[in-house]
Amino acid sequence: MYKWIYKQGVKRRNHLLPTAENFLQGTDKWSRAELEAYQLEKLKVLVSWAYKHSEHYRRKLDEANMHPTQLQTLADLQRIPPITKKTLIEENEAIHATANFKRLIYSETSGSTGSPLTFYRNLEWDARHRAAIHRGYSWYDIQPWDRNGYFWGYNLDVKKHWKLKIMDKLVNRFRIFSYEKKEILTFIKNLNRADYLEGYSSMIYYVARKIEQENIAINTNLKMIKGTSEKIFDAYQPTVKKVFGRKIISEYGAAETGIIAFECPEGNMHTTMENVIVEVIEGEIYVTNLFSHSFPIIRYALGDYVEIDTETKCACGREHTIVTSVMGRIGKEIIGHQETYPSLTFYYIFKNIVMDSGDAIRYQVLQHQKGHLEFRLEQHLSPSIRKQLEAEIVKYFAQDMKYDIREGVDFYRDGGKLKDFVSFVETV
Ligand SMILES: [Zn+2]
Repeated sequence: MYKWIYKQGVKRRNHLLPTAENFLQGTDKWSRAELEAYQLEKLKVLVSWAYKHSEHYRRKLDEANMHPTQLQTLADLQRIPPITKKTLIEENEAIHATANFKRLIYSETSGSTGSPLTFYRNLEWDARHRAAIHRGYSWYDIQPWDRNGYFWGYNLDVKKHWKLKIMDKLVNRFRIFSYEKKEILTFIKNLNRADYLEGYSSMIYYVARKIEQENIAINTNLKMIKGTSEKIFDAYQPTVKKVFGRKIISEYGAAETGIIAFECPEGNMHTTMENVIVEVIEGEIYVTNLFSHSFPIIRYALGDYVEIDTETKCACGREHTIVTSVMGRIGKEIIGHQETYPSLTFYYIFKNIVMDSGDAIRYQVLQHQKGHLEFRLEQHLSPSIRKQLEAEIVKYFAQDMKYDIREGVDFYRDGGKLKDFVSFVETV
């Protein structure tokens, strides 16, 4: 029945989805050369299209003295200047293509600076995005209509519950609305028949820990647990694996870019090379969405630090580029008394501790004032690890920063989503 409901939904929402799914199944085992040739072909189409239909890109390409016909190799893409979220918001109308589309899908994402980014996606863009997710599911033998449990943030509006419950019912999903024991017990009962779980990894971990602490028996046979939107701390994995029987795998993407990468059963995040071109310059990711014809996304600075690997051959046989690590949001800088530091510094501090001691720490750092940091840790540290943490902090900030380390405390949450660094310091 759920399969039927699902197929009706697809017909109504986006009839291009089945074609996109078939295509991505066919290219799953393509060679690198085949993938790159395909990327170049689609890139040429996109850039010509943008030049013809988007006022913003026409101006930009003219200024860069770059006519679409000069695009002969993938490396030529670098001749087009990158674009930022700020520009997507400010030049919104000039970026949107003026062509006639039969139907477009409205999209909105929150901007970190306040004003949201809104744009319209053409149907092929949407279909490719969703097909990329579904291909990832297929690697775990999951169908989109299979039964799943959903984890979301805390701040759900109670009045919307019944609406969500009806929606969830239709897509064979159950979700957890609060993290009280009674809710968790209901959730566990639902787990018996679930095929997969998805949502904020901090929530998945939180529930796993609750189940472990309270020694609640669970019976489940999950095929996949997928973390979205948030950093998946290594420290989550042992507990989640012990309780739910699987580690959390990651899906990486954004509304503007679509799915960028999906983790395979061998533990490598493969980029969806058929949909996106990923470049990494000085640690920062730039994404070109090959099907973004209604609102061209070309060399978009997404705002994450990542590492990629184009050499390693994954045991799963896929030749798609591997994202080895999403190190964090570029976001706000850390402000010392004298200097400023990239927020990525925390990634290195805690990575060094894991490398040396094998202890993964769940952390969050808050900055309330210039020259001071509050390190929040959920667990308690052994004296030697605490000493090492202090040494690492001094190594990176020297005398420029005062700090407090608070152990055994909860994390600060902003709208449900967990961030590893939150700054309350106003910067001008
Ligand atoms: Zn793989």
